[in-house]
Amino acid sequence: MNIKSAQFVTAAPGWAQMPEDGTPEVAFLGRSNVGKSSLLNAMLGRKALAHTSGTPGKTQALNYYRINGRHEQQDGALGQGGFFLVDLPGYGYAKVSQKVRAKWQQLIGQYAIGRAETGQLRAIVHLVDGRHPPTKLDTELALLLRESAAPHIVALTKGDKLSGNTRPKAEATARKHFKALGLELPVVTTSAQTKRGIEDLWKWVEPNL
Ligand code: GDP
Repeated sequence: MNIKSAQFVTAAPGWAQMPEDGTPEVAFLGRSNVGKSSLLNAMLGRKALAHTSGTPGKTQALNYYRINGRHEQQDGALGQGGFFLVDLPGYGYAKVSQKVRAKWQQLIGQYAIGRAETGQLRAIVHLVDGRHPPTKLDTELALLLRESAAPHIVALTKGDKLSGNTRPKAEATARKHFKALGLELPVVTTSAQTKRGIEDLWKWVEPNL
């Protein structure tokens, strides 16, 4: 994927604030500290995307970025075309109240199902830490995403920490874990450090957009 531009569009705290211009979107989710910011920056070939939340859980909102859009800066418009990359931050962040967490979970479920129904959400990337088997939080998240009609993929992160046959083993463990939840998902190992799997992930995302 040739990334020509990546422009922050909006942080949507709820359904009503999500952009309505019909631009196709791909969503990235994973528990906090999974390596999502690092992977997104590697995917976009940037050091840091604007507005990545330094304090996860503080402002829980869906961060919309327009990738490869046409920008008509003269009238202050946010641009058109290309696609949205949607960053859903801080899943399972421990330091927020139960109430805030429950609300965020509900929004993720509503988003995954509802935005796929409207045709905007075309692909979901669920990030899982490649160094460990999927956790309870990964299961929770998978169950929220399960009812979505949008195609899913699991991206194992920090793949540089997997050597030799631990990589195929980690992939098989993840595949089995999600299959037991009724989700037969492709699994790709990635690394923000070595850039492993980044092009493979784009190759899966791109045809869905
Ligand atoms: P986020 O909370 O999901 O956005 O996670 P971050 O991108 O901030 O990364 C969390 C931690 O994992 C940081 O300490 C990163 O340095 C580390 N990390 C992220 N990506 C990689 C990777 O590809 N390889 C390794 N070894 N560490 C990584």
